[in-house]
Amino acid sequence: MSRRKISILGATGSIGTSTLDLVEREPDAFEVVALTAHSDVAGLADAARRTRAAIAVIGDERKYGALREALAGSGIEAAAGADAVAATATLGADWTMAAIVGFAGLRPTLAALEAGGTVALANKESLVAAGALVTETARKCGATLLPVDSEHNAVFQCFDHAAPESIRKVTLTASGGPFRDWTIEQMAAATPAQAVKHPNWSMGAKISVDSATLMNKGLELIEAFHLFPLPADAFDAIVHPQSVVHALVAYVDGSVLAQLGTPDMRTPIAHSLAWPRRMETPCRALDLATTGRLDFMAPDLERFPALGIALEVMAAGGARPTILNASNEIAVAAFLAGRIGFMDIPLIVRKALERYDPARPGCLDDVFAIDAEARAITREAMESITA
Ligand code: NAD
Ligand code: MG
Repeated sequence: MSRRKISILGATGSIGTSTLDLVEREPDAFEVVALTAHSDVAGLADAARRTRAAIAVIGDERKYGALREALAGSGIEAAAGADAVAATATLGADWTMAAIVGFAGLRPTLAALEAGGTVALANKESLVAAGALVTETARKCGATLLPVDSEHNAVFQCFDHAAPESIRKVTLTASGGPFRDWTIEQMAAATPAQAVKHPNWSMGAKISVDSATLMNKGLELIEAFHLFPLPADAFDAIVHPQSVVHALVAYVDGSVLAQLGTPDMRTPIAHSLAWPRRMETPCRALDLATTGRLDFMAPDLERFPALGIALEVMAAGGARPTILNASNEIAVAAFLAGRIGFMDIPLIVRKALERYDPARPGCLDDVFAIDAEARAITREAMESITA
C-alpha cells in the first residue's frame, strides 16, 4: 500500500494535534508533506521533526528566523507568512486537514480544494462565511470534501447520498455547553475561564466559547446546509448533554439513523483520515450500559439567543452568514480578552447584523470585503456598549 500524502493546516491546535496523534500511530500509512501553525514555533517544529514532514510553515512572518533555528539540521524546509500557508496546497498532498480556526482558514482551505485532492474540513467558519464558494470550488476542481466536525461526520455516515429526496430531517446534537443549566444573570457574569471549560470536549478557545453561547450549533447548522443537499428548514438542533449521539438522519419512511460514539474528536478525524477504509483509534469504546441514559431536550433560545440569530441568518442567506461569522469572531475575541460580558456576544452580533446588510457576495473578493466591513462595524457596535 502506498502511503497517503497528507498535510495539516493548523497542526498545533486541538484538531491538529489529535490528527497528528492518529498519523503517528500508523507511520506506514501516512507521509507528512506540510504542517502549518500560526505562532507556536516550538510545537510546530517538534511535530515536524517527529513526523519527518517535508516542510513546516509558520503563519506569523516574524517567527521565520525562530522556526529556521528550531529546524536546523533536520532537513525540514521552513517557510513563513499567510501566502506560504496557502501555498502548501501546491506541494502534492492527496489529503489535507483544514483545521485553522476562523476566517483565516478560508484562503488555505480554498487553495487545498483547488489542488483537487481530499480536504477534511474542520474549519467550519470557511463554510459559514463562504459556503457556496467553497462547495462550488470543490465541485469544479474535483476535490472531495469530508466533514470532520463530529455532527457532520455523523450525518455523512448516515446520509444516503444517492437518495437525498428520501431524507426528511437532519438533526445535530448539542451538549448544551458549560452553561446549559445557568440562568441569564449567571451567564452575564461568566468569565472566559468558565466559558472555555467544556463538560465533554477539550477544544480550542474560540470554539469552546461558541459552544457555550450555542453559536457553535448555529454555525454548524449553516455548515450542514452547505454540506448536505437539503433545504435550510430540514436542519435542526437538539440538546443532548451526554454527547454520545452526534447526529440523526430521519427518512420519509420513519427510519431514523444515528451515529454514536464516546465524545473524542479522534473518531471523526480517523473516519476522514482513513476514508474509505476504517482505522483503529485509542478512543474509549462506547458502553451504553455504563452510560445508562441518554437525554434530549429542545434548545432554549431565550437563554441562548445566538442560536436563534444563526437560525434567522441561515434562513435569510445572502451575505448574512458572512457577517454573522465575522461579528462573532470579533465579539468572542473581545470576550476572551475581558472587554465585554458573555451575554454581550449575541447582543453585539445582532447589532452588526442590523447595521449592515450588503448584497450577496458573488466572488471571493466580495466575501473578503464584507468580512472586513462587518468586523469594523462590529468594533463600532462594541464601543457603544463598552463606553
Ligand atoms: P485551536 O485554536 O486549538 O487551533 C487552531 C489552529 O489554527 C492552530 O494550529 C493555530 O496555529 C492555527 N491558526 C490560528 N490562527 C491562524 C492564522 N491566522 N493563520 C494560520 N493559522 C492559524 O482550534 P481547534 O479547536 O483545533 O479548532 C480548529 C477548527 O476546527 C475550528 O474551525 C473549529 O471550529 C473546528 N472544530 C474543532 C473541534 C474541536 O474539538 N477542537 C471540533 C469540531 C470543529
Ligand atoms: Mg461540532
